[in-house]
Amino acid sequence: PFSYTPPGRNHLFVPGPVNIHERVLRVMNVPGQNHRDPWFAELYKSVLEDTKFIYQTTEGTPFIFPGTGTGGWEAALTNTLSPGDKVLCFRYGQFSHLWIDMMQRLGLEVQVVDRPWGEGANEGVLEDILKKDTSKKIKAVCVVHNETTTGVTSDIKGCRDAMDAASHPALLLVDGVSSIGALDFQFDAWHVDVAVTGSQKALSLPTGLAYVCASKKALDAGKTAGLKRCYFDFADYLRTNPTGNVPYTPSLPLLYGTQESIKMLKEEGFENVVARHFRLAEGVRKAVEGWGLKTLCKDQRWKSDSLTVIETPPGIDSNKIVKVAYAKYDLSIGIGLSQVNGKVFRIGHLGNMNELMLCGALSGAEMAMRDVGMDITPGSGIGKAIEYWNKTAKVIKTRE
Ligand code: PLP
Repeated sequence: PFSYTPPGRNHLFVPGPVNIHERVLRVMNVPGQNHRDPWFAELYKSVLEDTKFIYQTTEGTPFIFPGTGTGGWEAALTNTLSPGDKVLCFRYGQFSHLWIDMMQRLGLEVQVVDRPWGEGANEGVLEDILKKDTSKKIKAVCVVHNETTTGVTSDIKGCRDAMDAASHPALLLVDGVSSIGALDFQFDAWHVDVAVTGSQKALSLPTGLAYVCASKKALDAGKTAGLKRCYFDFADYLRTNPTGNVPYTPSLPLLYGTQESIKMLKEEGFENVVARHFRLAEGVRKAVEGWGLKTLCKDQRWKSDSLTVIETPPGIDSNKIVKVAYAKYDLSIGIGLSQVNGKVFRIGHLGNMNELMLCGALSGAEMAMRDVGMDITPGSGIGKAIEYWNKTAKVIKTRE
């Protein structure tokens, strides 16, 4: 597969890994360095501090682990819970399913709340369950903020409000792997206890870091949490982090990349980042309408701004669209996972992304759908997106 490189660039539109900005690529391109040399401590302390921006926290304690989102999940659970603890988790896609699988394998007792794929966390159901838990057996509520399987963003503030309405003391653990750094996320305001993300998503870096943020309540829970942990133990980091040290060898290129990527997000401004993701997503949703298709997520309030999951009509295998898009147009879009495999395809639009990049993806998807025999009028989707972005795209800050 590597013996021939097609001309032009691969159009990467999976919902992670995402496109890496040239500025970020450049800062990561460094020779080997010794993290025990004196300059490292200042760098590390400042990168840790920088990560607070993506969670919108001043109160949380950030951690950076070598690993991926899955490692972040494990850190969130093992640092706060004990074997046999009861936890509650909504399941509405492959990632919530896998997180639940991890909880079970770690020895937690999981109350699974199954929702149809395409829906999000139902706050009313959550409140009801918590109100009935009069003996406060449930120690944590675990929510996947943005379900990357279905293109559904749950309302974390709504979940927090439901927990408060039930006066329930459970911890709120949030998978923000495909939301944090792209969508609105308010660690402090929403009283999140542990939030998790990974470097290959909105931060637009190579895969390899898990970012975790813990509240004081979560750190306190850690003092008695009995689940076994070693590599992902907060305590090791809490000993070393204040002095700018790490318990084991850090990935320096990824730390430089993190610093640059967050610098770019800060330059853009948190609200502008969130607004850009909405604008990009809305254009893609207009294209889907123009094609006469539907997104898997039907409820407006849950539609994700970091990716769009598009249903294909009966008789059309969505895997073929993904295959031909890559084979003919060098466009990488996401297949449907697990129970929606063959029925949907996914267009990622999170992270380092703009309107014109997405025009490429939408044009490619449109051609690929025609290639597999779908009755799509050329320009029907991309035309709608263009119409929308024509009206809504912002003049670049420095070019007004
Ligand atoms: N959670 C969500 C919502 C994801 O989208 C993913 C990966 O795509 C994961 C968790 C797992 O993350 P990783 O593959 O980085 O371990």
